[in-house]
Amino acid sequence: MPTIYRSPYPDLDIKSVDLVSYLFSNPFNTPLDRPIYINAISGEQYTLGDVIQRTRSLSNGLRQSIGVKPNDVVALFSPNTIDYPVVCHAIVSSRAIVAPNSAALTALELNAQLKTSGARFIIVHSSLLETAQKAAKGTSVEKVLLIDGQTSVNGQPTCNHLASTFAPADFLTIDPAEADRQPTFICFSSGTSGAAKGVITTHQNITSNLQQWRHLLDSGLPSQRPTRQSAIAFLPFSHIYGLNLFMCQCLMWGTTVVVMQKFDLDLYLSCIQKYRPDELAVVPPIALMLVKDPRVSKYDLTSVRKIMSAAAPLTVELSFALEAKFTEISKTEVFCTQSWGLTETSPMATAVPNDRMAKRNMGVGCIVPNMQLRFVDPESMKDAAVTSDGSTEPAEIWCRGPNVVMGYYNNNEATKDAFHVDEGGMRWFRTGDIGIIDGEGYVTIQDRIKEMIKYKGLQVIPSELEGKLVDHPDVEDAAVTGMWVDDRATELPVGFVVLSHQTKGRDQKAVLGGIHAWLNERIANHKRLRGGIHVLSQIPKSPSGKILRRQLRDLLKSQAPKA
Ligand code: AMP
Repeated sequence: MPTIYRSPYPDLDIKSVDLVSYLFSNPFNTPLDRPIYINAISGEQYTLGDVIQRTRSLSNGLRQSIGVKPNDVVALFSPNTIDYPVVCHAIVSSRAIVAPNSAALTALELNAQLKTSGARFIIVHSSLLETAQKAAKGTSVEKVLLIDGQTSVNGQPTCNHLASTFAPADFLTIDPAEADRQPTFICFSSGTSGAAKGVITTHQNITSNLQQWRHLLDSGLPSQRPTRQSAIAFLPFSHIYGLNLFMCQCLMWGTTVVVMQKFDLDLYLSCIQKYRPDELAVVPPIALMLVKDPRVSKYDLTSVRKIMSAAAPLTVELSFALEAKFTEISKTEVFCTQSWGLTETSPMATAVPNDRMAKRNMGVGCIVPNMQLRFVDPESMKDAAVTSDGSTEPAEIWCRGPNVVMGYYNNNEATKDAFHVDEGGMRWFRTGDIGIIDGEGYVTIQDRIKEMIKYKGLQVIPSELEGKLVDHPDVEDAAVTGMWVDDRATELPVGFVVLSHQTKGRDQKAVLGGIHAWLNERIANHKRLRGGIHVLSQIPKSPSGKILRRQLRDLLKSQAPKA
């Protein structure tokens, strides 16, 4: 029998429900005139009433005027704007599927994701129109629509125009019995290995995670709970963390979300000063800025009571420094907590409940209700032993629960590789993260066995960069791995290349400079090989041809300057 770890909270009676019915049921009786999305710069806003009306009208317009049908995939390509959630929910309430793409992608990268998702339509922000039009070539995209403005592209109306001119229609909800099969989102992730894949998030996955998350947020005494009056959103809505938190959770709570198109420290701090959130959702590099940047002292940040970091590892030192800084600012105890999750867990799998925040060293918190975890040695495939202090030995974390996705879109092979069916028939998702769970049920993430690199919380996929590098005429073979530097730089992508014969006799520095420049034109900024490119005589590989990334990481460690 496998050793299964569960939440310290009892399982919830999770309802089978579609996202639209759940979100728009207004469970907290938020007044319709409450501002829900506010543009951080212009102050332009949508109230809850506006969001509901515009979502209904746009859904009607998408169906009547554009021809969006149930199960169509509609790609989104936009930075955060106050219209983004409306567009997203209008697609879902037309019974279609949203495929959000990072606004940082190049045309080449977007083209690959459009092919993966098989999108029929792409809805795009005007600042990215040219990239989207290039990317749509050779894909199944039939129409490119603008989100913003009133001017049409190729005769297609903008979403703004549709939302303002069409009559509000009823939401097309789905049968609750289908909630666990019907996709809502196709987000992109590399999973444990290989290229970016479309993660199929169903209605049930996302509504379950809303219920699981809400339970932890509701734990403890009312005085321990954040008010959720306002939240500042700089995390991209195209990533599951921003998508769930700001487009779903906050809408359900009736929280006023101040939308930042991109991160800017002064704007962020001035928004905290103006809108006075008591909880901040950050990623580790922003946590570091809040500790180190002198501009922080120029603003009134006394509303903050809790800071939650997720998406990448936050060191204990940084977490404590952040608590100390904000406790001094607010003159009352401020807690910094971590959550852990993946696109494949929709996303929150562990978190620190309100009533346990005062405990120290609780890593990424405890398991959310209705989720089960196993800690399995990836070599022996046996459950991790428990040490004398009650913690498990470090092992790969496997999970199952209503928020764990069913697999990858049109990719049975990747789906099969990502799951393990045990002797009892239980299906476990293999996260590729190495961690431990202690005797009190707190999980700590220690390492990652999967290939994914996280630069400032953003995914960088080694195989994608390797594929591009070997396309360069000066490169014969290539490998990419991550190198942890510090809290500021986080994990940097590092390249290794075997140079081709044609580079013989040429200046190696100039050759590498040329490769860097060539690659940078083809990839999003966060994927750049900031850790440098090293020249090797051959790339270490297993007999089956798998790149031995651990050897590459060891090589980097052996070259690091000794302290
Ligand atoms: P994504 O699918 O982009 O959300 O990436 C998921 C991966 O991010 C996880 O498998 C972890 O490797 C990493 N991650 C997320 N949250 C944390 C955390 N709190 N600490 C360490 N790693 C994290």
